[in-house]
This record gives sequence, structure tokens and C-alpha cells, in this order.
Amino acid sequence: VNLDKPSASSSFHKCSEEAPKQEAVKTDDVRGLKRKSLHENSFSPMQRFRKRHLSVTLLCDQTWCEMKSVYNLLKPHIKRKEMQHTEVQIGQEIHLSRELEIQDVVPVDIRTREDGEAVKLLNMLHMIPLLEAGQRVREFPVFGVQEGVFIMGVIDELMYNQKGELVLNELKTRRQNSLPSSAQDKVNCFQIEYFHQGSNGPIGTRVAPFDEAQIRGELQGYLSYWTGQREPKGVDIEEAWKCRSCLYEEICEWRKNRFTVSDQQAAHSSSHL
Ligand code: SF4
Repeated sequence: VNLDKPSASSSFHKCSEEAPKQEAVKTDDVRGLKRKSLHENSFSPMQRFRKRHLSVTLLCDQTWCEMKSVYNLLKPHIKRKEMQHTEVQIGQEIHLSRELEIQDVVPVDIRTREDGEAVKLLNMLHMIPLLEAGQRVREFPVFGVQEGVFIMGVIDELMYNQKGELVLNELKTRRQNSLPSSAQDKVNCFQIEYFHQGSNGPIGTRVAPFDEAQIRGELQGYLSYWTGQREPKGVDIEEAWKCRSCLYEEICEWRKNRFTVSDQQAAHSSSHL
């Protein structure tokens, strides 16, 4: 489920009047961060980052490393610099071509954020009867409130199987023509089918069983950071390998503190052998 990707089915075109507003938010964010030490305990991350909702994509990123999700918001220029635009673009094109296989895309000019949300609702209302009639639908918008936090996303593909069960199919595009590691799979367990970007062909499908109690438990843990109930966490020592390919390896306070403490503990233990 992905909110951050542009919704191809609604083809939102933000009007130019919105740009200064976005800029103002960014500027406020920066000021907010400079004041962070003074206000750290008085604002939740939802408030500090001026978020009205969370996207499912953000929650999935958080399962890889929560600290990295926070740095993505604190240091957007680093993320932008490192982002492979061609890969993102290829991924979006694959999503769009799959959508066009089964439904038309009609461009809609919108003027306000509310217009954009209204188009999502219209898309949803249009797709529900198709789904109930046994057809598969793609790019299905979803939203809801969990633990008091408004969450939004887009499901890549939805259909009923022959047993009458609702099947959610999520498409992930990959540079490598192979299925991902179990650590990456854990991230995608919130989501699911793998496509190779080079050949535009399927790599494989992994089925993620839906365990409501487990998903709810994990979600509560993730949301407790956003609602200000705890500090953000980086990876555990067993997953320190993730830091080697992380954009924030050089600046990450968690990594510095955590691994310095671990090194000291290791030195202390060996001195007692
Ligand atoms: Fe997370 Fe490691 Fe990156 Fe820090 S360096 S943000 S702990 S992956």
C-alpha cells in the first residue's frame, strides 16, 4: 500500500498556487527542528513534522529502521540526493501500465487538497461495485483511523478469490531479478508480487498470511513513536549490517551511541575472561 507514489488513477495535478504553501511548511519544519531541543517533550512527532496523517509507505519504511524514517524527514536533502530517480520513474511506469491493463485513467484538474481527496473517494466509490461484481481493481484508495492516527494508502490490486476471500496484491518493483532477503520481505509483509525493473517481467510472488493480532501489535508499537509515547529506535545490534548501506550512517546518533556502548561492553567482558 502506497500513498507517497502519485495516484495514477486520479492523475492529480496540483495547481501552482499550492507551491508556496508547501515551501512554507518546509521552512516551518526547519525552524521547528532548530527549536527541537526546547520543545522536544511538548510536541509529538506527528505535531513536530506537521503530519495530519501517516502513509502506509512510511509505516513500512519504519519496519526497516525507525531511525532512518525519522532521518528521512529531518534530512530530506540527503534522501533526495541519493534517490535514484530513474528507478522511481520505472517503478511508477510499471504501476501505471498494470493499471491501464484493466482500467482507464482520466486526468482530472484539481485546485485544492480537498479536490484531490474527493477524487480519491470517487475512485473508491466507482471501484467497489466492480469489486463486488467479481472484477479485480487496481490502485484502490484506502484510509482509516488506528490508535487515534489517521492512516492513508493505496492498494495495488484487490479481488475476491473463488472461496470468496478478499485477496490483496501488492506490486514491488526491484532492480535485481531475484526475490528479496527475509529482512526486506518483513518490510513488504505489510504490503506483497515482485517485478523486475529491467525486463518489466514478474520475478515471483510471496504470500504473506494475515495475522491481525500480530499486525495490530506491531502497528501499536510503530504508532507509539508518532504519538510521542517514546523516542525513536534504530536497528538492533544483530541488524547492524543495515547501517552499512544507510544514507545516514555517518551522522546517525543511534548508531554512534549504540555501537560505542556495545564495543565498551565487549571490551569489559573480554577483560574479565
Ligand atoms: Fe538506522 Fe543504522 Fe541508518 Fe542509523 S545508520 S538510521 S540505525 S540503519
